[in-house]
Amino acid sequence: MFSLLTDKLEDAFRKLRGMGKISESNVSDALREIRMALLEADVDFKVAKDLIEAVKQRALGEEVLKTVTPGQQIVKIFHDELEKILGSDASELDLSQPSSILMVGLNGAGKTTTSAKLAAWLKKQGKRPLLIALDLYRPAAVTQLQVLGQQLNVPVCVPAPGETDVVRATKAALAWVEQQGLGIAIFDTAGRQEVDEDLLSELKKVRDLVKPTETLLVADAATGQQAVSVANRFHETVTISGLIMTKLDGDARGGALLSMRQVTGRPVKFIGVGEKVDQLEVFHPDRMAQRILG
Ligand code: GDP
Repeated sequence: MFSLLTDKLEDAFRKLRGMGKISESNVSDALREIRMALLEADVDFKVAKDLIEAVKQRALGEEVLKTVTPGQQIVKIFHDELEKILGSDASELDLSQPSSILMVGLNGAGKTTTSAKLAAWLKKQGKRPLLIALDLYRPAAVTQLQVLGQQLNVPVCVPAPGETDVVRATKAALAWVEQQGLGIAIFDTAGRQEVDEDLLSELKKVRDLVKPTETLLVADAATGQQAVSVANRFHETVTISGLIMTKLDGDARGGALLSMRQVTGRPVKFIGVGEKVDQLEVFHPDRMAQRILG
């Protein structure tokens, strides 16, 4: 997990620590190594630039250059700035019942799987999850949620056969939730390959009806440089309350997590670390910062 980002930064830090004397004129060269490492790990260009600029300003302001081990000091400042972006404490979900969670994201990000994972996690917390399939375009996604719900013994609401009107489907789902009594309703919404106006206006309608307590953007951690625009578009439209980064068990470079966290200002609440329903973890930013810094 985050191995590329970690490896690249480790190389950069090794070089930095080795630079016995860092002067005002070569501090930029030193920081360029860190910036390259961030970019190679798919951190957004502007996010990387701002982070480096913050480190540089502090490095110059704190008279780091006069300390005996300026390399180490810069690594420390970088760590602090990274923690500023990531936050230092795990950010938990609101677990009060009744409440509702709207899952949004692009197709293939892992929304349906993560909805089921979240249901499994909530059950472990002694809560009563409910699953609602609202993807009217992909019958396979509805079936997938039904199967997962059965495995977990969690009630699943599916759209009426042939239903194409998302507003009607959402209203029917809300009536179903009402009948179920106290619980935490997880709404698995439709995605698209790309963020488009239709997807967003539809999501907005669903959001306005559901009035969710949490709106979680599910995103593939391997999302490259489009991570920022995806996060921005969803956040502008439905105001997300948190992020779930999936597939961190794969070859994700880690950069998308950092970028999406930074541009939305919203915490990463969970990470997906495998395809199985129990492979969801509460995200601990301090541990990520530690891991990144080796
Ligand atoms: P959706 O289109 O957003 O609903 O995405 P799905 O839930 O159908 O997931 C797409 C694919 O990603 C499926 O093959 C999932 O098994 C897989 N997937 C989801 N989360 C993870 C994860 O954390 N790790 C791995 N390795 N695969 C995942």
